[in-house]
Amino acid sequence: MSRHDNRQPGQIRPITIEKSIAPHAQGSVLISFGNTKVICAAMIEESVPRWMKEQNVPGGWITAEYSMLPYSTLTRKQRDSSRGRPDGRGTEIQRLIGRSLRAVVDLKKLGQRTLWVDCDVLQADGGTRTAAITGASLAVELAGRWLVEQGKIKELPVKNRVAAVSVGIVAGEVLVDLDYLEDKDAEVDMNVVMTDKLDYVEVQGSGEESVFSASQLEKLTSAAKSGIEQLLAIQKSALG
Ligand code: UDP
Repeated sequence: MSRHDNRQPGQIRPITIEKSIAPHAQGSVLISFGNTKVICAAMIEESVPRWMKEQNVPGGWITAEYSMLPYSTLTRKQRDSSRGRPDGRGTEIQRLIGRSLRAVVDLKKLGQRTLWVDCDVLQADGGTRTAAITGASLAVELAGRWLVEQGKIKELPVKNRVAAVSVGIVAGEVLVDLDYLEDKDAEVDMNVVMTDKLDYVEVQGSGEESVFSASQLEKLTSAAKSGIEQLLAIQKSALG
């Protein structure tokens, strides 16, 4: 079976990374996984949350927010602010982004400051969380470099890069980096987050009205690993 956009099963979509697209943020990128486009911006606040001060926790903090812009979807998605409540999916995704970044950021080296990472989806076509994580890693690194350049800290507070990709089973076949058309037909859907040392940060997988075997799980994670390797190479050429 061939994919509707003629990709090989293990092939990710064309990736583009545009740096510093939000000049007021200390680090920002616009990342595209095909037609999925996400703005990732990291801003530094020179203070830490109150609970950290109260409990004398040393170092800094990093927190992520995620949203889909109203015009990112085919039919307009209402803003949370006018809906009056945050949506569960967005909350879940921003926690995932935060955990992924905390796994690779050295909060002690960050010093007593908060890194706010905002991921806003400009265009959604499947895999917005994986694009957000892959882009956010770079936005954070750029903000870290800014801190070093400004003489605010001595060393880059980033231990590793992190990248993420979706994998799934569609019509019995393992596919990497599913777009919306593929995602909606997937029997199994998985999001995998790994560092540039190829250690796992998180694996989210579920059978959608279906189940999967141990050997399929192995095929999925190994396909994800090769997708992430492709992403890590692209991150490297974007940031050096
Ligand atoms: N989607 C949408 N509106 C929504 C949620 C999702 O149009 O409120 C579409 C969008 O293209 C998204 C895809 O469904 O990328 C898959 O959504 P999922 O929740 O699996 O997250 P993602 O794959 O974007 O991380």
